[in-house]
Amino acid sequence: MVGELKMLYPNILEINLSDLSFEIYESENLFDKYMGGIGVGIELLNQHLQTGVDPLSPENVVIFAIGPLNTYFPVASKTCAVFKSPLTGNLGESYAGGRLSTAMRFNNLGALILKGKSPEPIYFVSYEDGVQFFNAKPLMYMSPNTTGRIIREKIGHPGNRSVVTIGPAGERLIPYACATVDRTRHFGRTGLGAVLGSKNVKGFAIIGDQPISLESNTKYKQYRRVFREIYKKTTETNLMAKYHILGTAAGILPLNALKSLPTRNFAESYFEEAENISGEYFASELLGKRVACGGCPIGCIHLAILRERWEKGTVADIHSIAVSYDYELIYALGSNLKIGNAKDILKLIEAIEKEGMDAISIGVVFAWLAEAYERNLISPKDTEGELIRFGRVDDFLSIIKKISKATEESELYYSASKGVEELVEKYGGNDFGIRVAKLEPAGYRTGYYAIMGFLIGGRHSHLDNAGYSLDQKILNKPITLEKGINSLINEEEWRNVLNSMVICLFARGVYDINTTIQALDSLKINRTEEELLKMGMEIQRKRLQFKYAEGFSLIEAYQRFPKRFTEMMTAHGFLEKETFDKLLTIYSDEAEKRYTIKVA
Ligand code: SF4
Repeated sequence: MVGELKMLYPNILEINLSDLSFEIYESENLFDKYMGGIGVGIELLNQHLQTGVDPLSPENVVIFAIGPLNTYFPVASKTCAVFKSPLTGNLGESYAGGRLSTAMRFNNLGALILKGKSPEPIYFVSYEDGVQFFNAKPLMYMSPNTTGRIIREKIGHPGNRSVVTIGPAGERLIPYACATVDRTRHFGRTGLGAVLGSKNVKGFAIIGDQPISLESNTKYKQYRRVFREIYKKTTETNLMAKYHILGTAAGILPLNALKSLPTRNFAESYFEEAENISGEYFASELLGKRVACGGCPIGCIHLAILRERWEKGTVADIHSIAVSYDYELIYALGSNLKIGNAKDILKLIEAIEKEGMDAISIGVVFAWLAEAYERNLISPKDTEGELIRFGRVDDFLSIIKKISKATEESELYYSASKGVEELVEKYGGNDFGIRVAKLEPAGYRTGYYAIMGFLIGGRHSHLDNAGYSLDQKILNKPITLEKGINSLINEEEWRNVLNSMVICLFARGVYDINTTIQALDSLKINRTEEELLKMGMEIQRKRLQFKYAEGFSLIEAYQRFPKRFTEMMTAHGFLEKETFDKLLTIYSDEAEKRYTIKVA
């Protein structure tokens, strides 16, 4: 296959882990119809996953998919993963950068499907013509980065390669365990690490060396022109400059000034020590270097240098660790825990990184524990003598391993290892148990639409529809509730299109509809605006169908809202339950009209 067909119909690699067999087959028209990423991912998930399976059983299925723009255009650097989430019990969906999409492209892989469960811990390497499986027993309980280094040394391939690994938390099936990609990127949200752990997959590498012929795969002249335009928009305008200069940590001070930075388990929205944990502070005092995902000229990944002593009291034995930080980590392990020291945040990130856990989820779990401890909802007996207090980094550092290693005997930490929903179930504290549809949220106290965005989003993530951004846009230009909800829904549908390409959403301002159509056309993929929008809506319908078939209840998720959501000060003042009620009704009517699904 050459040219257009090869791009439209890349291969699918399907691995049956139960007998370590694999099959590589052509994707026929799947990529033509759904482009790639979430479009192809949700379709394949529906084809391969039975409704109602236990997410940690061999019957769960993991799909990784890339899209048509990956590798061909700047900042189209992500890979989409879909699976059933052990944290929410519903649609698991996560995106990661690194070099994975490039390695898959050069391997001519459009999607990778993992089924079954390996009898023993393994890692595997996918070459263009096959897969090799290796014993991962010697790697058990190693950190994701040590595992990644050993796999890289073992395969020793200098070309396009990407390595995905899990840490001890994934092996112990902690439902918010993440998977780490090429050291600094993560499939962070909704627990992919635990699903890989349940399948006895400690990691995998994709190697791709197939040449791509731009002359035959593209309308070459047009491709060069569109590429140059996108590159220019990416690097010479203000659309992405902030991501390079300060990274997403640039958001700390503006959100704090707007009274929107979650502080002290979302009880407050202004952190008096924000200056000391701001993007500006990190950049001027701790930044070591910036790195980028494959095919991205931005380099938003900021690595701080944390210098630590091997042993207390020795002066000479200093070692330096590069720790990547961003807005969400600073919120979850900084302001929300009232930790106002940047180095302390780095220590927490590093310790969590070693276990391989989603830093947002465990940060919100910490915040619940600190508040429950303060309110005497949990006792020193429950904490096994540990103090768990806001503002005390050592308190949190000393319970990370307790959570990661918890067994049923250690009730509190075992519940903490399952997430905030489980803690609330066991100990109460719903009023301050911050989660939406069982997922601990990202760091925005901007107003109604951030929270409604979490609630109605396909996977309940801030990246589904960016309600936090809408809240900020309408600060001085109020809109009707109908317009607000429609704006969230429309954006989520458009994001389904971008997530099918699979571009990095930081570049969503670069890839407007017109630019996306031109980029596709230069790759000989002809789509009109109407067709793309229709595809975005169709993908949303499929995501919702999946969720409701798996038992999701919008009303139940809404009724489980912590009272704090209606008690908290935001950029829009205090939020009222009556307004949330109205927004929910507007959403339900609109969603039923668009998707012909009963949502409430
Ligand atoms: S902007 Fe950042 S996260 Fe996005 S592709 Fe570039 S380096 Fe990766």
